[in-house]
Amino acid sequence: MQWNEDVVELDQFGKWKLILMNPERFQAGNIAILKRGKKIVLIDSGCARNYEKLVKKVANKDYAPFFLVNTHAHPDHTGANVEMAGEGAMVLAHRNARQHMVRYGLPGESGLPILTFRRRMTLYAGKQRMRLLSLAPGHTDGDLAVWVPEMNLLHTGDVFMSRDYPLIDSNSGGTILGLIRSVNRLVRRSDRDTVIIPGHGDLAGRKELVQYQNMLVNVTDDVQYHKNLGLDLESIRDLNLTKKYDKKWGQGDLITGRQFVGFVYNTLPDATISPSKKELPGHKAHDHDSGEPEVCLSHLFVKRATLEVGEKGRAALSFDLNDRDAGQFDAGVQDRLTGLSSSKAWSARDLVSDGGTGPSALFSFELRGPAEDERFLILDGRLKRTSFDDDRMTIEVAFDADDFRSEHNSDLASGLASDGVIDLASVRIDQMQSCPLGDT
Ligand SMILES: [Zn+2]
Repeated sequence: MQWNEDVVELDQFGKWKLILMNPERFQAGNIAILKRGKKIVLIDSGCARNYEKLVKKVANKDYAPFFLVNTHAHPDHTGANVEMAGEGAMVLAHRNARQHMVRYGLPGESGLPILTFRRRMTLYAGKQRMRLLSLAPGHTDGDLAVWVPEMNLLHTGDVFMSRDYPLIDSNSGGTILGLIRSVNRLVRRSDRDTVIIPGHGDLAGRKELVQYQNMLVNVTDDVQYHKNLGLDLESIRDLNLTKKYDKKWGQGDLITGRQFVGFVYNTLPDATISPSKKELPGHKAHDHDSGEPEVCLSHLFVKRATLEVGEKGRAALSFDLNDRDAGQFDAGVQDRLTGLSSSKAWSARDLVSDGGTGPSALFSFELRGPAEDERFLILDGRLKRTSFDDDRMTIEVAFDADDFRSEHNSDLASGLASDGVIDLASVRIDQMQSCPLGDT
């Protein structure tokens, strides 16, 4: 779906209409107007210099009062807040976003949010539910996404730009690991029919968001690896780690690959020591290649797992450790799915070693259904307990119970929503937290 006009109106959402405005080829943040009769909800207000166009759209039409949601604090998304408040807008934002606006001195006082929240909030425009989801500190620490379940519409704010690498505003609390967590969550929220409005750029779908997610994880992993080797930022930039992604994510005029690598490098934690590897009772610790430092943002890929779903988001994931071993383990599948060489993956036993990766550490689980099913789900979960029965390993995980209340259409999601045992073709487990310090 291409969106290159200044104003586009979409009628595919039944009684609600989506109006998109971007007067400057995506330099200013995208503005979305959701409209039904005399009800409107605005998401972001663009750049100050473009406010007249927006005022023309909403002025003198008896819309007031109406909601204006700011996805975050940056001035290219709040530029017409003052004028919109003058037209009767009630401005909403994440609590931290309001603090940043006050600090920036933009927008002017009358355009500041009058209502803020920290975790989540639901708006009702008539019967239409709009969920404001507070995200992890990624682009800034005041990011939110807007999810409209009945329209299957997701506005990501600047956590996602459809033609550019992301900007990570560390002065406003943004970090790469938070950005990845936020994107994981948005991928989880969406299905193949979801219309995704990025902060800047063309409308997109889940496919683009998943490609973007893979790019983020792979570039971050590479930067972490070289940072752990002791390379400084300029040397890492010269490695051109984003080369294979530049065609897709270097298309816009906003953020280059070199800048993105800088954001990643500067917001990754400094820890270079991997968690200690403790030998488990009855099992030998995995034999690591001592010449290669472990990376902290790591992946484990297992095949043919089963997931037993319990109550309140609890689930037990079981798989055969031998499937990971050389010879039986299909490294090609792993390379294809993760874009990483198998030598960088951790062994399953590392998941249970102490020093930070033990119980309650946060992981991201990518679950794939039967082999021919291309669909997959990504869930964040906390490790609760691990156990072994010969070479069969079981990981008990607490997922966010909300994620089990399915708003997805896939068979996998509906399987998760009901108790029982699900067969999975594969599971990829990523550690999505900062690298803990070991005792070595
Ligand atoms: Zn921004």
